[in-house]
Amino acid sequence: LSGAEVSPADRIPRHKIDQDALRVVSRLYRRGFEAYLVGGCVRDLLVGLEPKDFDVATEAHPRQIKRIFRNGRIIGRRFKLVHVVYGDHIVETSTFRAAPPQSDGDDGDLLIVDDNEFGTAAEDAARRDFTINALFLDPLENKLIDFVGGLEDLERRQLRTIGDPYVRLAEDPVRILRGIKFATRLSFDIEPRTWNAMCDLSQELERSAPPRVVEEILKLLRSAHSAPAFKLLDECGALGVLCPEIADWLEWARSGADDPDYLWRLLTDLDQRTRRGKEPSISLALAVLFAPLAERVLARLETQKAVTDGQIQTALGELLEPIGAPSRLSRRDLGQARRMLANQRRFSQPSSKRFRPLLFMRSPDFEATLELFHLRTEARDEGWDLLESWQQRYRAALEVDDVEVDQIRSK
Ligand code: ATP
Ligand code: MG
Repeated sequence: LSGAEVSPADRIPRHKIDQDALRVVSRLYRRGFEAYLVGGCVRDLLVGLEPKDFDVATEAHPRQIKRIFRNGRIIGRRFKLVHVVYGDHIVETSTFRAAPPQSDGDDGDLLIVDDNEFGTAAEDAARRDFTINALFLDPLENKLIDFVGGLEDLERRQLRTIGDPYVRLAEDPVRILRGIKFATRLSFDIEPRTWNAMCDLSQELERSAPPRVVEEILKLLRSAHSAPAFKLLDECGALGVLCPEIADWLEWARSGADDPDYLWRLLTDLDQRTRRGKEPSISLALAVLFAPLAERVLARLETQKAVTDGQIQTALGELLEPIGAPSRLSRRDLGQARRMLANQRRFSQPSSKRFRPLLFMRSPDFEATLELFHLRTEARDEGWDLLESWQQRYRAALEVDDVEVDQIRSK
């Protein structure tokens, strides 16, 4: 472990360590292989958060790991790792990896194309993204192993790339989004040079695989920290690359056409809802992000005479297209987001032969649509009376439906 800072891990409460992960590490040790807990779980244990999952890193190769664990499954085609399966719980166990060879040539292109060279523990730490994500925990000796100055950064509550941020973020621009995710989730500052690189390289996000990018955007939206996260995306220029129409709305609003804080209030309200334990669906998260823009588009359409439902659906579909088309978002989620946005105008529409509130309330998306209306009402601080009356009507309709169901059952 030369080059590593080794210190006691007394700050980590033993009972917080996952028993299955502990089992994997000790079995590997008994078979003579170096093995540690690594990454997000060590970071979260040290800051007092509940780790989502416990990952193991070891010098054993995938086939060797597989031989030791009958419940091990080799996963992945290029980047092979082993899932050690305990019932419905999986311990991801991967072999130490070295920094991948840079795509060669002298064009200065740093984008990583291959990522499957085995290496040492030190090399494995160095290929990770941020210092706080590269700490190793030896749960048998109860020691922390720090090759990259991650403990000091945790102490200072700062997010810093391992090595030169201009190199590390160019290698994989999605790290810009990951950086924003960790900084907002942990309320850490971003070290100045890391932040400058995020700003200077935000354009590079165009080159990352769209499904990875959209996945990170959705994680930010549903994280309970979406407001600060999207503010950082806006500040570093990434928002203009990822969602140009939304950056454009902000600019338009800032010119005095609308209240730019409307978007931040929407996201803040969404975050509060998430913190109360209601993780937003993908469609609600998307609809909230696109709500200000959709309002502008609908207002423009409505200045035309006789705008049809079809035209509205098409216009909103086009709005969501840039995020939907290249990603792996399902048609179902996109369709639901589109309908939720289109149906916002129903809440102020008088009932008529063509618009029947009861039918609207029985549509499968109604609850989510009302949820979005609630968030919009809160963020604009207007339309409370409309919201109230719809909520009452909906509660009443539910009761009626319950009575009907009871009657059917008793027959
Ligand atoms: P979370 O709690 O969100 O799962 P995490 O730190 O566990 O956070 P993962 O995406 O699960 O993050 O990745 C596990 C570890 O793999 C990270 O802690 C980091 O060390 C490493 N890692 C993940 N993605 C990258 C990347 N794009 N570049 C370099 N290292 C990465
Ligand atoms: Mg993880």
